[in-house]
Amino acid sequence: MFKTKDEDEPIKVDSDSFKFQSPRGMPDILPDDHCYFTFIKKVLRHRCRQAGIQRISTPVIEQTDLFRHTTGETTDIVQREMYTFEDRKGRSMTLRPEATPGICRAYLEHKMYTWPQPVELYCCDPMFRYERPQSGRQRQFYQFDAEVIGGENDPVIDAQMMNLAWNILGDLGLGENIEIQINSIGCPACRPKYREQLVNYYFEKQRALCEECKERLKINPLRLLDCKNDDCHILAEGAPKTVDHLCKDCKDHFEKLQEFMTILNLPFKINSTLVRGLDYYTKTVFEFWGAEHGGQSALVGGGRYDGLVEILGGPPTPAIGFAAGIERLIAEMKSREITVPYKDKVHVFVAQLGHDAKKQCLPVISELRNLGIHTMNSLGKSSLKAQLRLADKLGAEWAVIMGEMEVQQGTALLRDMRISEQQIIPFDQIVPVLKNIFPEEVRDTYSPGEVVRGVKVETREDGEEEG
Ligand code: AMP
Repeated sequence: MFKTKDEDEPIKVDSDSFKFQSPRGMPDILPDDHCYFTFIKKVLRHRCRQAGIQRISTPVIEQTDLFRHTTGETTDIVQREMYTFEDRKGRSMTLRPEATPGICRAYLEHKMYTWPQPVELYCCDPMFRYERPQSGRQRQFYQFDAEVIGGENDPVIDAQMMNLAWNILGDLGLGENIEIQINSIGCPACRPKYREQLVNYYFEKQRALCEECKERLKINPLRLLDCKNDDCHILAEGAPKTVDHLCKDCKDHFEKLQEFMTILNLPFKINSTLVRGLDYYTKTVFEFWGAEHGGQSALVGGGRYDGLVEILGGPPTPAIGFAAGIERLIAEMKSREITVPYKDKVHVFVAQLGHDAKKQCLPVISELRNLGIHTMNSLGKSSLKAQLRLADKLGAEWAVIMGEMEVQQGTALLRDMRISEQQIIPFDQIVPVLKNIFPEEVRDTYSPGEVVRGVKVETREDGEEEG
């Protein structure tokens, strides 16, 4: 039960009756962190627009089979990290653990292969994985995801995708101390032979492997290479390298990729143990590591997935994509003491007393807001003193004060909260004076652009059968 005795007395919550918490690993994003989110989203939007990458949103929930068929039955995600449930009709549904499968499904469902190729899309949405929550690892987290689907299987696209990620990190102030790790894990033509060699290499050494890797050796031997266990790591260092077993096409792709990255001044390291956790990757895989965290918590991860659209029943379609975890970017920015502009500053607080003052202040507040001056108020019943204390707590720079006397005199008090000085001004001067104090360049104005009327917009017919 919430109780307030006095408006200034702190509210106490009775912990016996309030027992709710956000689900484990799914933290609330509070306003301070939203400053970072807003800033990052602005960077993403601009960088994508510059590169002709358009936004897409797919549903949070997809059919479970979509992830089984694409992300892969043997991956950690599908084996133990998905939030899967039956809907009311008994269909198995899953909260998306990653964006790529849903975007590829949408590519086929909306016949995007008939659009000019490649189709370049991005999203910035929540993902869900049932992992053990720890620093940099949540159960609900936001991912920025960029995908280039269709067109050519050309390493110049791979290099450009990494350039996009590089520029985004640069705009976030993370341009230094970033390591770009790249590798090529081959294609269905060369990977089976490599896999055989790898299994042979590990066969004799099985006893030294961790329990998980013993399993992986049977179902997904490439994953042995990126195990974080110390002993497995030492063994992985001596294992045959994918890059030494590439077919001509993959080798050529990897060499050209390095050439293009050099032209773009992208500093990279070849990391032969980088394989990434998902089944669908072919040829190029990459990660961007932050200063301290290394591969345990890469900031960005991605790769080429030329076979995925075909797995879903589409035509042979080259594709490449990457994802960056927004919370990890924010953590990296904070650890490097990077702050972002605080846009929620309160410019003016309007304090009033009495019904008549309230009536007079109401349109003034609305006008100030329309002008782009951040204006807050407490149009409730509290005393002027309490309202000014609130204005102070909110960090308001100026206060307009209107008591009963001011209403009778047709005036208002204008108080500079920073130096605690005030002056009496005629009521009709409140807006002009504040316009001077907050000239246009500091106001929060925006132009949504003009809408055009009278043009019929095609909307998709929804043919969903519910039976
Ligand atoms: P992945 O889809 O696993 O390749 O991950 C791509 C990026 O998403 C990573 O580099 C992280 O930045 C972020 N990420 C992945 N899993 C998590 C998680 N559980 N919590 C927070 N961020 C994550």
